[in-house]
Amino acid sequence: VPIADIAKEKFSAELKDKQDRMKTSDKLKAMKSFREKLPAYKLKSEFLKAVANNQVLVVSGETGCGKTTQLPQFILEEEIACLRGADCNIVCTQPRRISAISVSARISSERGEQLGETVGYQIRLEAKRSEHTRLLFCTTGILLRQLVQDPCLTGVSHLLVDEIHERGMNEDFLIIILRDLLPRRPDLRLILMSATINADMFSKYFGDAPTMHIPGFTFPVEELFLEDVLEKSRLSINSKDMFPGNALGRRKQTDSKKDPLVELFEEVEIDAHYKNYCTSTRQSLEEWSAEKIDLDLVEATIEYVCRHEGGGAILVFLTGWDEISKLLDKIKANTLLGNSSKFLVLPLHGSMPTVNQREIFDRPPSSVRKIVLATNIAESSITIDDVVYVVDCGKAKETSYDALNKLACLLPSWISKASAHQRRGRAGRVQPGVCYRLYPKIIYDAMPQYQLPEILRTPLQELCLQIKSLQLGTIAAFLAKALQPPEPLSVHNAVELLKTIGALNETEELTPLGRHLCTLPLEPNIGKMLLMGSIFQCLDPALTIAAALAHRDPFVLPLNRKEDADAAKRSFAGDSCSDHIALLKAFDGWKNAKRSGREKAYCWENFLSPLTLQMMEDMRKQFLDLLSDIGFVDKSKGAKAYNIYSDDLEMVSAILCAGLYPNVVQCKRRGKRTAFYTKEVGKVDIHPASVNAGVNSLPLPYLVYSEKVKTANIYVRDSTNISDYALLLFGGSLIPSKTGEGIEMLEGYLHFSAAKSVLDLIKKLRNELDKLLGR
Ligand code: ADP
Ligand code: MG
Repeated sequence: VPIADIAKEKFSAELKDKQDRMKTSDKLKAMKSFREKLPAYKLKSEFLKAVANNQVLVVSGETGCGKTTQLPQFILEEEIACLRGADCNIVCTQPRRISAISVSARISSERGEQLGETVGYQIRLEAKRSEHTRLLFCTTGILLRQLVQDPCLTGVSHLLVDEIHERGMNEDFLIIILRDLLPRRPDLRLILMSATINADMFSKYFGDAPTMHIPGFTFPVEELFLEDVLEKSRLSINSKDMFPGNALGRRKQTDSKKDPLVELFEEVEIDAHYKNYCTSTRQSLEEWSAEKIDLDLVEATIEYVCRHEGGGAILVFLTGWDEISKLLDKIKANTLLGNSSKFLVLPLHGSMPTVNQREIFDRPPSSVRKIVLATNIAESSITIDDVVYVVDCGKAKETSYDALNKLACLLPSWISKASAHQRRGRAGRVQPGVCYRLYPKIIYDAMPQYQLPEILRTPLQELCLQIKSLQLGTIAAFLAKALQPPEPLSVHNAVELLKTIGALNETEELTPLGRHLCTLPLEPNIGKMLLMGSIFQCLDPALTIAAALAHRDPFVLPLNRKEDADAAKRSFAGDSCSDHIALLKAFDGWKNAKRSGREKAYCWENFLSPLTLQMMEDMRKQFLDLLSDIGFVDKSKGAKAYNIYSDDLEMVSAILCAGLYPNVVQCKRRGKRTAFYTKEVGKVDIHPASVNAGVNSLPLPYLVYSEKVKTANIYVRDSTNISDYALLLFGGSLIPSKTGEGIEMLEGYLHFSAAKSVLDLIKKLRNELDKLLGR
């Protein structure tokens, strides 16, 4: 018998021993009985039998029934009990980093182990796993990455793909690959897990795979629409005293007998939008949908619950970090909720780099009310048990893609009925609850049944690069096999863009640049900016601007002091004619202010969001790690080596051009004014919030911009004025040349200190360029 086999046998026996001991340990008694109460437990043996007898199984069940924490664990326990512990390798994918960490930590404590022993996690740039790990939670992105090296997933015995009902891009992509892979891996077991929606569709996709449903139990949840909330608050006012010193009292001090909440709702009621709703045309629905949430209304509702309802945590669904941070600020200033030890207010957001996990899940003492401000991450992947009240704004930030105008928009829009149902359900985990829906019933009735899958509403560039790096054939042919294939026009646009920026060549093969971009889990444009920033030694600006592009910019626009805020931004921009440089200076100023401990005053004076700046700082670190991970930055050389040209604004603009191309606007003089044109849509306007808005003439002939938005007109958001040299040299594939020389040069730059030679090159090429430009 080979020694390796003996070692394996021994290891399997050890695992079993340990598991048997743990089963009877006193320490885990409470855990054990908790687990046995979960609905999933009743179906344990049926589940294991189904896994043993079928290659694919689709499991659905209400959120919180124990799919994620129990089902992989059942398999693990069974494998260990049958002395197959050494050979089993269970992988469970999660759409989000934060749930991979939270779930693996939970299972480890359910098993009385340290995280990283038998159960571990791996997310981008961070892992807790060991050679003994038998159950690994990872993001779907990590698994896709592993497929590059190991296209057959040779090491994996069981694969669980979680939250497939969300129809995320990565999950939809993964299941196309898996369906093709299964015949080549007859021993691989695939389990798809979903909330209670649409399980049949997945079963059909996998050739009528068997399905299994875990019935769940939740307490009834009272459902109040905007009109009901108003009615209820009126009733409670009649029976109770007025709210004293309420923050909202400020809104209308004239009528002091009225409840501020009632007042607010009346305002909403007479609001034109609301009227539109009541006459509900499809168009007005869309109009209101793109609008921001009325945070006053959310705040008033939270306050109302705190004053009039019994104990229990409140879970508030908002659309994004922006609103969470604004509401946090509001609550801090609220006379009832702010600065009181009776309230524990916690943000919960998917891209939060460090989450104070325990606080979110722990039950505070009964004198303290927990209020969690979350994005739709709390809708199905994270369950907070003690929630009794849900406040639902009814919206989620959704990327949508307008293939005709090549516009990507990240706009708040109405959620689906399925999501609304999920959100409501979050209130009934431990006792009957209440769901405050801050929109009228008529909106609910108009909501679509399900949300459109991500693959149908986002630009496909990143996905196309992945298809190429996994060698899955022609992009269009591959995507046609999707559960719901994207529009051919969207696919075409994505491929063309990748060719334009030099990531794919004419025959749709990856270029060296394309191969590098594949290794970065970022939009290709942002990735390219980072690569160029490190090659051309102005890394710091590239990191900061990329962070703002990937997240959001830190400028806040207070409605009542808009002019002051504009002025602050303009003074950061100086005479650079660049919103990007403005944000760069604002960020650098914040870092300095931070060093001297006066960042609060700095943010206040300059209309900047401290939370966004902090988030940018964290993202910069992540980006730097990514670049060092793929060998573009050698951290041992120190930051200086990569920042030789960081203060050279011409160079920074050139890098911006490299990253933002083909988002180019041509500036044409029209008499005294300048008119702006893009290739795709013709005339555009500069967004009023830009430092370039209202400028009569710009010194240089082009602008590069971050995004186009379409409202009444088409506006370009943050923009930077650039020269024709920058555009010629840095637009497209570095240096346009028929032989692909420019791309070869990029490779060359990786090995030489390049920036100097590029500046030389610009000088040398000037004559040639001038000829090209007809000078
Ligand atoms: P599902 O995947 O079906 O939505 P989970 O397996 O995630 O359900 O969760 C089952 C139950 O385990 C939850 O209802 C919750 O009570 C508990 N739970 C899950 N994660 C944690 C955690 N990190 N801390 C405390 N309890 C948790
Ligand atoms: Mg789950």
